[in-house]
Amino acid sequence: MSHARGGKEVSPYMSISQLARSIAESPTLRLNEEARLLREKGLPVTHLGGGEPKNKTPIAAILSSAAKLANGDIKYVPTDGIPSLKKAILRYTEENYEHLVEPENVIVSSGAKQSVYNVLFSILNPQDEVIVLAPYWVSYPEMIRMVYGVPVVVTPEDGRYLPRMADIERAISPATRAIIVNSPNNPSGLMYPEDLVAEIVQFCERKSLYLIMDDIYHKLVFDGKKAPSAYRYASKDLESSKLVIINGISKLYGMTGFRIGWAIANRKLVEVMNNVQAQTTSCTSPITQAAAEGALTGLQSIVESLRLTIENNRTVMMEELHSFTGVKVAKPDGTFYCFPDFRAYSNTSVELSDFLLKKALVVTVPGREFGMEGHLRLSYCGSVKDITEGIARMKWALDPNAPNEIYIGDRKLVRDWL
Ligand code: PMP
Repeated sequence: MSHARGGKEVSPYMSISQLARSIAESPTLRLNEEARLLREKGLPVTHLGGGEPKNKTPIAAILSSAAKLANGDIKYVPTDGIPSLKKAILRYTEENYEHLVEPENVIVSSGAKQSVYNVLFSILNPQDEVIVLAPYWVSYPEMIRMVYGVPVVVTPEDGRYLPRMADIERAISPATRAIIVNSPNNPSGLMYPEDLVAEIVQFCERKSLYLIMDDIYHKLVFDGKKAPSAYRYASKDLESSKLVIINGISKLYGMTGFRIGWAIANRKLVEVMNNVQAQTTSCTSPITQAAAEGALTGLQSIVESLRLTIENNRTVMMEELHSFTGVKVAKPDGTFYCFPDFRAYSNTSVELSDFLLKKALVVTVPGREFGMEGHLRLSYCGSVKDITEGIARMKWALDPNAPNEIYIGDRKLVRDWL
């Protein structure tokens, strides 16, 4: 489509900013949409691409937001979050990080996603660099670009999923402002070991870099392990520290649709983020803030039962993948993802993922989106049946040792490409 301007045909695309045009679509949200459309057509799609637990909203969250709604007084609230939710966040931080922070150190946003974006917006000047550690969450590089920063990706040596300190140090330049760490990690499920977290914290302090710890999965950890807290290794007090902790309720309580996350940082940074948020969203909805407060102050056994279900799913997923010829996988310490290496079958993960969706009706997320080709991100946040069915279909499509006939729904399919 185009329209005339001054006698010339101008494409409407030309009036979109260069920056906005350069931002990639979220591949995970796109895949969700593709899966939804296929299901709408009646096709039995198995979703191993998901990023949210399947549990129902905790009752304490429902009651607390329903009470807020019922009083009919739903107005603007303080930009940085309602005081009672902030109080619950302080308690959460004290209990889970053994660290005391003040209300002025906390800002509530519409999801951890907005928290990360607001931090980046508040700390970066154009062309400032941020170290992103592959495999990384898909949104980090795009968000950095959205505030005119430059993502600098550090990729571990082949066969590893965690960076070496020496590689991080080599990637630093005079333009480096921050490092983002996500542990336990989306997509690998691996947790950065205590000594690596300690080294990164101390390195950032020495170099005066911001360290953004995206801790959104820090309670979804298996095998009796506990996620290391960056605070433990920080020698500076919070007000002179550039350590920022990101957290939220999306993964902790499976409350992704409520859109509540938060950042904890020094007061100055929180003050600036507050201004940024005030000029963009004013505040996060008090209805969902009430829900978050309900979840944080309600029965916490919900978190443990969700964690146990997912740990069991992880075990099933590992068993299924270990019997998949040629596939290598690192056992996840947490999250609900794993990141197997499919290079025995294909080096181009986008093509592989497309092939699996078309032939086997299984949704996977291509590793390229996370900065590591030849891998697929598989999610085990669904049911055990999703996992066994999904992997059986993938084996049928790819593994010559698998039976060459399979039933998908009531349709018998015969593999004719191996
Ligand atoms: N960080 C990571 C690593 C994530 O995987 C996600 C969700 N996929 C988020 C942040 C965003 O979470 P929220 O729903 O709170 O915006």
